[in-house]
Amino acid sequence: MSNEKATELETLLAPLRNPLTFAARNDFENVERIKDLEKTLLAAARRLVGVVRDGGVRARLGSIVEVLEGKGGRKEKVRRVLEEVEAIAEGREPIADSRRLIADGRGPIAESRLPKADDRRPIADGRKPIADSRPPIADDRAPPAERRVSKKPESLSLKSEVQYVKGIGPGIAKLLNDKGIATVEDLIRFLPRRYEDRSLRGSIRDLTPGEGATIQGTILAKSAKNFRGRRSLEVAIGDDTGTLRLTWFRSLGADWAERFAKGKRVQVSGVVKVFRGQLQMAHPETRILDDDGPAPEAPTELVPIYSEIEGLRPQQLRRVLDNVLPLASHLDDCIPTAIAERHHLPDLGTSVQLLHRPPRATDLQALLDMATPWHKRLIYEELFLLQLVVLQRKAKAAAEAGRAVSFGASLADEAVKLFPFALTKAQSRVLRDIEHDMGKAVPMHRLLQGDVGSGKTAVAMSAAAAIAHAGMQVAIMAPTELLAEQHARTALASLPKAGIRVDVLTGSVTAAERRRILGGLASGNIQVVVGTHALIQADVRFHKLALGIIDEQHRFGVLQRARLLEQGRESLGATPHVLVMTATPIPRTLALTVYGDLDVSIIDELPPGRTPVKTVLYREKQRDQVYRRVRHAVEQGRQAYVVFPLVEESDKEGMAEIRAVTSEAEDLANGALHGLRIGLLHGRLDAAAKEQVMRAFLNKQIDVLVATTVVEVGIDVPNATVMVIEHAERFGLSQLHQLRGRVGRGAHASECLLLTSGTSSDDAWRRLGVMEETADGFKIAEADLEIRGPGDFIGTRQSGL
Ligand code: ADP
Ligand code: MG
Repeated sequence: MSNEKATELETLLAPLRNPLTFAARNDFENVERIKDLEKTLLAAARRLVGVVRDGGVRARLGSIVEVLEGKGGRKEKVRRVLEEVEAIAEGREPIADSRRLIADGRGPIAESRLPKADDRRPIADGRKPIADSRPPIADDRAPPAERRVSKKPESLSLKSEVQYVKGIGPGIAKLLNDKGIATVEDLIRFLPRRYEDRSLRGSIRDLTPGEGATIQGTILAKSAKNFRGRRSLEVAIGDDTGTLRLTWFRSLGADWAERFAKGKRVQVSGVVKVFRGQLQMAHPETRILDDDGPAPEAPTELVPIYSEIEGLRPQQLRRVLDNVLPLASHLDDCIPTAIAERHHLPDLGTSVQLLHRPPRATDLQALLDMATPWHKRLIYEELFLLQLVVLQRKAKAAAEAGRAVSFGASLADEAVKLFPFALTKAQSRVLRDIEHDMGKAVPMHRLLQGDVGSGKTAVAMSAAAAIAHAGMQVAIMAPTELLAEQHARTALASLPKAGIRVDVLTGSVTAAERRRILGGLASGNIQVVVGTHALIQADVRFHKLALGIIDEQHRFGVLQRARLLEQGRESLGATPHVLVMTATPIPRTLALTVYGDLDVSIIDELPPGRTPVKTVLYREKQRDQVYRRVRHAVEQGRQAYVVFPLVEESDKEGMAEIRAVTSEAEDLANGALHGLRIGLLHGRLDAAAKEQVMRAFLNKQIDVLVATTVVEVGIDVPNATVMVIEHAERFGLSQLHQLRGRVGRGAHASECLLLTSGTSSDDAWRRLGVMEETADGFKIAEADLEIRGPGDFIGTRQSGL
């Protein structure tokens, strides 16, 4: 052991060694004084099992876990474990004591169940093959036949098609292929979804064919046969609920008949099968309870459960996996060794193998929570690669030539010309960021995040004005015509005041209009253009496009953003600056992951004088009250939204969604909202139909808009002051926040009424309470992240990445 390695091992062992040393001081005087000593030691040992990279050490830690879990006095345990820990730290052989303890028939933990790594693997890459240090104890109990690793065919590699794997015929190969598992590597990377603790079963009746189990029974009968010159042994055991046949296709030693004498109590572990209509275990691990003494405890057997592959039995899958797992050590480990070591990450091959075949001592909960070091290793890799891609993209962008713009006036001064109000501190700060970026000869890639109404558009217009005054062009692109029109209204109301020529290009302009606008863009006569995808059509040419502003970019594809940049390059001879706006707050902790190639500016402050939207939670039985408020608002000349969650996609066409929201709308029209003009908006309407409904709502031809979440990124309707959200508990907090942002956009006080079903637990109620407490989108996003995890954010964002 090198010095460096020894030091590292000492450091690693400290959490286990320190409490032990303390407990053992002065002839173990502290043993009984330390609260939860065993628990602390067990936790430390279990953590180490996952962290330590050396297979031999890991096995020894596994046996330490067994000692700690086993019966026996505290003092004795502390003594044994401390001796062993010191032996490990000093690089000595296992102490005799623990050897006996491990050899008591329950088996060493980590390595014996691992498939053997490929011994011929070159060690040149500096990583040890997983099994190069075998467990310290000779393993004389062969693993059950179906677990034994078959000899790897010479030709099998990670890239081999699965059909060449032993145990996979054309039939199974097809099943795997259908699941997207084509190569050995795919198979190895097909990780368990969860784990089950197949501990001691109550009775034989509870056994499930195909699963591993441990069971106790009484020996009923036995027989020995010679089968094709080989000896086969059979023992039947039984309990009150049934019988189980044990078979061996080898000799169990001369004294087997005596050992398995009728009437003895026995404990067996193995995989249960059905053979000729009878439950059977082949080559089980056995423990004769009468002779070997009672089992110290119920052994745990952590069985990996894979997502189902139709037509393939779980045990077939596990068997096939056993045949390929040795190749896991060949997986391309992309984490540099230095980084892996710094973070105590086990290597990839080990992690994958142990996730498929977790050592017995592994904490089941940690496995289920994906909190084992092996899970962490894989998660780390995913984020590592994502960051690499993102940073690569960023580096590439930074290497591009941009246009350094020299401004005649600061962006804040531009804002003064455009708007009657003073900028908020947050807006001023963001404008300085943008000014700084665009002053450099590196293209800006900046994300502007802020709640609806926080003043992003005002910022964008100020930046646009500055570029126009510097003699170049700006394109403002929105995902829908309505949003484009909305930006166009702001642009037309502000920019011309500063002498800037603005035009609008969407898919619905007439051919003649379009020709005129294209002419204006090509000549530079139009300085700021607002539009939709129509802006990136092939025949659009700019004179000098220096800034692209993209609203709600997650609704645009990467290619569309690239296309806008391309138009800039063609016209400018340099990559244009890009400002992306979004009202969907991303928690800071996630921003780098999701938007890592963008610099992020945040507007975390609303302009003064806003009446916050009043948010109130209602129980289902208060729904009359809720709809009375809707009626009241309509009587006052206001409008309202009623939003329903998407129903489970029970059929592919989403017909259920339409049916559900349609019938809800009808119920409201015939009941609580009788006599009001009700509109209906759902995801199955095509874009034109959606726009038509939204427009009718905007023009006050509809009083109440019943909608699914499609209304989320919508249009400002300042006259709408009530937002009712049905089944609010089914929405994420961020989503609720987005929906709430649809109201409170005009002069009138607004309210958001959250209806939660009567069956909702208090947990759901508390969670929704966050909505009553805060209007800060970031706080809500953080709470959402804590409650639901990052899946949703990344899910909705990925389309834009
Ligand atoms: P966002 O684009 O973030 O939703 P907007 O820029 O559209 O926000 O601003 C929302 C409303 O607030 C608009 O009516 C805008 O004129 C107004 N506004 C923006 N900034 C300020 C400010 N600093 N002071 C007062 N009103 C502002
Ligand atoms: Mg806006």
